Amino acid sequence: MMIDDSELHAMQSQIIYEKIYRISLSQHSSCQDPDHPGCEECEVEQEIDD
Ligand SMILES: [Zn+2]
Repeated sequence: MMIDDSELHAMQSQIIYEKIYRISLSQHSSCQDPDHPGCEECEVEQEIDD
């Protein structure tokens, strides 16, 4: 099965996004940190606030 360029590009973008996310999450692991990129816990809290 062939993977076309746009699909490959989307996969690479996703990998890069996840790398950046993991690095910033490890550097700003506290949900109270203004540079914290967000995690599942934050999302749950936001849903409760709404
Ligand atoms: Zn969080």
